[in-house]
Amino acid sequence: MKRQTIVAANWKMNGSFGLVTEMSQGLADLQLANDVSVVVCPSAPFLAALTDALEHEKASEHISVGAQNVSEFEQGAYTGEISTSMLQACKVQYVILGHSERRSIFKETSTQVAHKVKTALDAGLVPILCIGESEAQRTAEQTETVLAAQLQPVIDEVGIERFSHIVIAYEPVWAIGTGKTASPDMAQATHQFIRKFLADIDKDIAAKTPVLYGGSVNAKNCEALFSQTDIDGGLIGGASLKVDEFKVICSAA
Ligand code: PEP
Repeated sequence: MKRQTIVAANWKMNGSFGLVTEMSQGLADLQLANDVSVVVCPSAPFLAALTDALEHEKASEHISVGAQNVSEFEQGAYTGEISTSMLQACKVQYVILGHSERRSIFKETSTQVAHKVKTALDAGLVPILCIGESEAQRTAEQTETVLAAQLQPVIDEVGIERFSHIVIAYEPVWAIGTGKTASPDMAQATHQFIRKFLADIDKDIAAKTPVLYGGSVNAKNCEALFSQTDIDGGLIGGASLKVDEFKVICSAA
């Protein structure tokens, strides 16, 4: 089965209104294969501006706006949080959840991530669910156990059927922002494990769920990674801040 291919930009806490303009102008003439979608995820203050700028540039409907996080609560006394309805007001369609920086720096647990995935799905947003092992965990041959432990709470919370509306991003923590990329074979083997993990519960869902690779993807290594059977695109950090390089990566998908 042909799955949707997605290239998502995670700007993290970087970017500016200038980059919003530059990126939307840059993406306006991007030629994408039919089944490829591009999602740009800036920090919250830039979401509405990016939506407006993409509309202004008449960018393809295959280019969407995503957020980097959302509150698990609907509204109320949660200072500093952003709700799903606020994201929808900015015409956001995707939301990155469980990024390793959220898990390690902000101590988000897999249970909390699972609640956020449910909140996002209930609001009609597509969660980009990040999972990945640390270097120590890979060395200790715990990668599969760690990934299973990150996936299972989400499956328990929302049910496997809803994975047809979820995108998974496999991001080995040791490869994020370090310049160390998993080799295409290593990434493929882990993606295959993730797909098998889902397939053991529901084969059809496993065949449909896009699994993106993230971790120091750049213009040079993207093609080899994207050509792997179980890699359905990428979640791009540093290289997504350079418009020309990001476009090369989108075109390789
Ligand atoms: C990320 O932050 O999701 C990421 C993959 O970053 P980088 O591409 O910079 O490794």
